[in-house]
Amino acid sequence: MVHSTIHDLGLEVVRLTTIRNTNRPHLALSFDDHVFAVDTTRTFGNDPIQPDAYLITHAHSDHHGRSAMMSTKSICSKETARALEIRFGRKYKGRTFCTGDTIEINGVEVATHPTHHTIGSCAFSWENDNGTRILVTGDMKDDSDLPECDFLVTEANYGDPSDISCYFEDDIAGLEQVIGDNVAFGAYAFGKAQRAVSIARNAGWHDEISMDSMGYNLTKSLMTDCGPLNEILEYNGGHEGMVIVAPWDLGKLPGSMKKYVLTGRRDYYYPAIHISDHMDVTGLVHMVLTLQPEATLIYHPDGHRPQRLAAHLNKIGYPSAALSEIQSN
Ligand SMILES: [Zn+2]
Repeated sequence: MVHSTIHDLGLEVVRLTTIRNTNRPHLALSFDDHVFAVDTTRTFGNDPIQPDAYLITHAHSDHHGRSAMMSTKSICSKETARALEIRFGRKYKGRTFCTGDTIEINGVEVATHPTHHTIGSCAFSWENDNGTRILVTGDMKDDSDLPECDFLVTEANYGDPSDISCYFEDDIAGLEQVIGDNVAFGAYAFGKAQRAVSIARNAGWHDEISMDSMGYNLTKSLMTDCGPLNEILEYNGGHEGMVIVAPWDLGKLPGSMKKYVLTGRRDYYYPAIHISDHMDVTGLVHMVLTLQPEATLIYHPDGHRPQRLAAHLNKIGYPSAALSEIQSN
């Protein structure tokens, strides 16, 4: 059902493969005489399909920019390219754009839209010769800048309607309440750490924020309004003010500090404050209802959540499939 709709829209979903015939991550979209790869690893000369471009939605490692960034055919926002270079210590070889720009890829006009998931995270939209409006979102936090589409490619990180942990709201008030001196937050260096800095600054915390080296470098180069930051070079001293480090490094900080983890998970030793880079399942379903696609493909992450979201969307009248349900080539 979805397969024939996708076909009627003038599209084919293909999986890039290696010469050993194993699937590369995520997908590529074939339309007219183009192939656009999405969040996958770069191919080599003897791989069967060579895409026109590698679209990189953002710099989280499960979206494979680490590999795609080595191709001159990779395309991402300036911030994503910078984040990839800092995270992986190599030079980004592809093209960049300013979020919101329209770029041309081999004669196709591609618009870019912020998804508010990480700094630099972008969705891509374009039209094929059939007049089908295609939208590829990557991971989502806020859909207010996305255009309506006919074919939607999106994620389901928290997409299981039957799982209670897929329903949440950010506890910004809870975080604001505990911001202060001698307080440490565990947050992933890319994404969550910058969200925490931004919430702290908006809450009126203008003093120094100490961060581990990776968080410090990413925040300093990607946020224009991060305020005073201090890089933690060694853990044996005390740290004044507010501290942000990777969750697994909280134990290295003095026992006298108050410690929290910014997470939706409940399996950390330290108390959790729910701050997420993602939409919950209510947000994801609302997004699909707003964008009104004729067909939806859930391409990320691995596991059962894409199928659960697709099943729910089918039930409420939005033809959908998970990537794992689509036959390769
Ligand atoms: Zn992500």
